Formats: sequence, C-alpha cells, structure tokens
Amino acid sequence: MSKPIVAIVGRPNVGKSTIFNYIGRNRLSIVEDIPGVTRDRIYMDAEWLGRNFTMIDTGGIEFESNDKILTAMRNQAKLAIDEADMIMFIVDGKTGLTSADNEVAVILRNTRKPVLLVVNKIDNMKNEADIYEFYNLGLGDPIAISATNALNIGDMLDRVIEHLPAEHSEPAENDQIKVAVIGRPNVGKSSLVNSIIGEERVIVSDIPGTTRDAIDTHFTKDGQTYVMIDTAGMRRKAKVDMPVERYSVIRSLRAVDRCDVVLMVINAEEGVTEQDKKIAGYAHEAGKASIILVNKWDLIDKDGKTSLRFTENIREELGFMQYSPVLFASALTKQRINRVTELVKYVADQHAMRVATSVLNQVIEDATAINPPPSERGRRLKIYFTTQPDVKPPTFIFFVNDPEIMHFSYLRFLENRLRESFGFEGTPLKLVVRGRK
Ligand code: GDP
Ligand code: GDP
Repeated sequence: MSKPIVAIVGRPNVGKSTIFNYIGRNRLSIVEDIPGVTRDRIYMDAEWLGRNFTMIDTGGIEFESNDKILTAMRNQAKLAIDEADMIMFIVDGKTGLTSADNEVAVILRNTRKPVLLVVNKIDNMKNEADIYEFYNLGLGDPIAISATNALNIGDMLDRVIEHLPAEHSEPAENDQIKVAVIGRPNVGKSSLVNSIIGEERVIVSDIPGTTRDAIDTHFTKDGQTYVMIDTAGMRRKAKVDMPVERYSVIRSLRAVDRCDVVLMVINAEEGVTEQDKKIAGYAHEAGKASIILVNKWDLIDKDGKTSLRFTENIREELGFMQYSPVLFASALTKQRINRVTELVKYVADQHAMRVATSVLNQVIEDATAINPPPSERGRRLKIYFTTQPDVKPPTFIFFVNDPEIMHFSYLRFLENRLRESFGFEGTPLKLVVRGRK
C-alpha cells in the first residue's frame, strides 16, 4: 500500500501515546460508540489536510530482553528508520534534555529519512524558550507542543505532511470501495441505499448493474468513490420464477463475491435469521470485510441496555464475526445514516492494511513471551518468522518448526494479539502455518 508511514519515537513517558491517540482520534471518533472497536494499538491511520498516513507508535512495541530503556529506544529508532517514511522524535520539555535523547539523536542523525523533533509538554507557550536546549540534538528546528492541552498540534501536523513523500496515485480501480448491501427482503436495503445517497447528495451516476441481479449506484464522498451493490433494487422489475427468498440468497452471494465490504442489514424487530447466518458465513469465508447494520431501530422500545443486549445477541448468533462493528440505524428517521460511508471506508482501510514485517515479528515475539507456544511429546512449537504477504483479507504466514504442534487455540490467541496491536476491525484474518523446509 502506498500510504506513507510516520513512526513515533521517544523515551517512555514523553507523551508518545498521548500524541498518537490524539492524532488518530479524529479519525476514530466515528466509531467511538460502536462496540468491538479496540484502542491502544500500535498502528493507526491518520489524516491531515487531505493527506493520509499511517502512524506507528514504536513505544507500544515491547522489545524482548529485559529492556533497558536505552536498548529499547535504540531498537525503536532502528525500526523507525527501517519502516517509516518519516520519523517524529518526541522529547519532554518539562524534564529537559536527557542522555537517552542524545543517544537516539545520534542514530536518527545518520538516516536520510526526515526527522521532526517535537518537544512535548510545553503546556504554556510562554515557556517556549524551554525548547532551545533541544537544538543541541542536531535535528533541526524543534516544534513545541502540548499533547494534553492540544497546543500547536496543527502546526506540528503541517510539518509532518511537508516531510511526507509525494503522493503516488494508485490505480483507478483500487479507488472504488464496493459495498454489497445484503439482507432479507424488506429489511430496508433499498431505503438505506436511498437515504445514504440522499444524505451525501453527491451522486455521480446510476449505472445498471453488470449482472442483472443488482443495481450498482456510484457516488463520491470526500474524494472516495463508493459503489453500492443493492441486491433489492431489481426485485420490483424482475419477474422471477423462483421463491423470492431463495432467489435473494443467490443474488446476495454473487454480490458478496464482487464486493470489498458487506453491509449486513438486519431488521431490528427480527434479529439475526438463518439466512443472515448463511450469508454472513459465506462473507467471512470469502475474506470480505463486513459491518452489521441493525435497521429499523426506530421501531424498538429502548432502555439504557437495549443496544448492548442486541449486540450480545448478534455476537452469539454470528460467532465468527466478532470483528464486525455493529451500527444501530434507521433508514426512516436517518438516525446514524451519516456514519455509514465513513464506517465503510474505515473497515475497507482495515481490510487493506499492511503491517511492516519487523513490527509484525516484534508483536509475535512479545505474544510468545507472554504465552509460550504449545508443546507436544516434549517438542515445543517455535515460530521462526511471520510475514504478511497479502491484504483483503490480511493474510499472515507463520513459519514454524512443526505445524502439527500448532493448536487452534494458540492460533486464536495470536489472532487476538494481532487485532489488539493493529486493529483490523471489520475484517477477517487469514492465518497460515508453514513448516520449515
Ligand atoms: P509515552 O510513554 O511516551 O507513550 O507517554 P504517555 O503518552 O503515556 O504520557 C506520559 C505521561 O505524560 C502521561 O501521564 C500523560 O498524561 C502526560 N503527558 C502527555 N502529554 C503531555 C503534555 O502535553 N503535557 C503534560 N503536562 N503532560 C503530558
Ligand atoms: P428491502 O426489500 O430490503 O429493499 O426493503 P425496503 O427498503 O423496500 O423496505 C421495506 C419496508 O420497510 C418499506 O415499507 C420501508 O418503508 C420500511 N423501512 C425501511 N427502513 C425502515 C426503518 O428504518 N424504519 C422503519 N420503521 N421502516 C423502514
């Protein structure tokens, strides 16, 4: 993927994760009240003035060994140099310059990658003079910010994007996000598509579907083109000699095959049906990203716990789809309709996310340190190397001494660690175990 990578490096407690979360939050706010969205991760997408980039908080990676701070920081810096397009080096304006800062600066001065020196915790710009000593690091003009008081963050981000490599344009077809709107007849698919598009008021065109099973509606929002594959659209026109129910399943499966993101529409009054389970299972197996949209939420009498109970029920019925965000909406009243496209874009990005190999291997090493791999007849599983060869869905290969010893439960544990570290909301992951030749 061509999104530039910005690595955040610095001593413990200088405010790296505060900065990281602050920058990432603008983007994440759309999913804040959606169950299943994790935080405290190492990777996060961010956007400033239309430039998209991915941040890595190298402080979130616990390097093995008894981690003397200095060793850890050297490792962070090296990792950043290897993987990032630019590096944000955070220092603490309250504590002042430390010898560990100097050590890292030596490493960072020796890279050709751009480095932005950020002096955090300047909570009052009257104290901006505190930053002068940091010129001694030889990393150019420092910028003073306060992450907790949100001071100068915009100026800092201006400088971050100045340093990013020029944007390469991606092939046009990759720009579209194809969304299959799936659900039983009458759950409100057409109403949803209409209200989503009505909301955006940026319709490009209505193009009849390439198959006669669906209508594809193209529209653009914030520079992103979406194609809504509405399997219901044709029903009124087509005369079909098949039971409506069965025909709609076949259409749905075809739409799933063609899409990036499945928008599973469930009727709030009915809950998850057998047909929903079948199609959701198919989407999961096919490696598609998905969102569960509970429509007709206006018809439900609610107390404080209704959505929680509903979510629990969905998680139970669609056990394999724990990763999918659940959105409670109404095509009729338009409640939360304005969030649908943003959420679609978000899970589509997660579906296409590529993790740097060195970061990936650190996370797996940490995981195996916390919870040692299983053993069988005196032989312990060893994971030599992990790599992510593919996206959509994100696919990981674990190279091990003996695949036979890998238990399903251990794979599940590794998958959870990957999700905790990187997010991957809304997307299944494909995990492959290979023996060493
Ligand atoms: P990290 O270890 O580098 O990720 O640092 P954290 O983000 O966990 O922050 C360490 C501590 O510094 C926390 O208690 C933060 O609340 C605090 N902190 C972060 N940014 C600022 C800031 O701009 N001003 C002040 N006064 N405290 C901050
Ligand atoms: P489709 O077959 O899945 O495309 O469903 P439609 O969009 O044709 O909607 C079926 C019926 O449900 C219509 O009468 C809609 O007016 C109604 N409907 C759709 N969405 C909502 C909603 O959010 N709330 C309520 N109360 N009714 C809705």
